[in-house]
Amino acid sequence: MTIAKAMHNIEKNLALVQNKIKQTARDFQRDPNKVTLLAVSKTKPVSDIEIAYHCGQRDFGENYLQEAEQKIIALRDKNIIWHYIGPIQSNKTRKISELFDWVHSIDRLKIARRLSDERPANNSPLNVLLQVNIDNEPAKSGIQLNEILSLAHQIAPLPRLKLRGLMAIPAIHKDPQQQRIPFAKMRQALTELQQYCPDCDTLSMGMSEDMQAAIAEGSTLVRIGTAIFGARTT
Ligand SMILES: *Cc1c(COP(=O)(O)O)cnc(C)c1O
Repeated sequence: MTIAKAMHNIEKNLALVQNKIKQTARDFQRDPNKVTLLAVSKTKPVSDIEIAYHCGQRDFGENYLQEAEQKIIALRDKNIIWHYIGPIQSNKTRKISELFDWVHSIDRLKIARRLSDERPANNSPLNVLLQVNIDNEPAKSGIQLNEILSLAHQIAPLPRLKLRGLMAIPAIHKDPQQQRIPFAKMRQALTELQQYCPDCDTLSMGMSEDMQAAIAEGSTLVRIGTAIFGARTT
């Protein structure tokens, strides 16, 4: 695809997604400014991120550390907020703690401890979310709903992390009413977590195919790849 064509598509797609977020928030009596758009740029080139950045997009999400590192270095003069949303191996925590502003995929204490220990002193604390395997799918990472509070109690005191809330990737459903069921459970789980952690203000849920259901159930951050950058071929 030529650069001009990519620019046109990404610019147009971003505007469509932003409008959909705003309209859905209004439909469900929510403040449209309380839903952050995270542009998921995994497998997409630096030039695509630059186009979205040029359109005002500031939050970007990546899943693969090696790929992300190259992009973050290439774009280091830009004012980007980087979110790590992929699975975390313990030998990758140092780089993740150095490169990112947020990590959405915390599912065990060992990883959280390492990220806290390794977070550079000159950076602000790393914002973290606990990933919940909301539909109990064997192939997906994440903790169970009934494990949230105990893990939160262990992670909240870690000095170089800031616990901000929860993240989930539900099983795929086409029906919007079905899509809302796991998101409603997540909303309830965040409310319970907030009794203990009043600073937990973030519910990371909703992707290209289910963002409206997620916003209806209180998502504060939708993670959108395909609807902005097009289908991934790799
Ligand atoms: C890839 C990915 C997304 C984006 O998915 P789309 O369907 O392309 O919008 C969101 N969240 C996570 C964790 C992902 O891995």
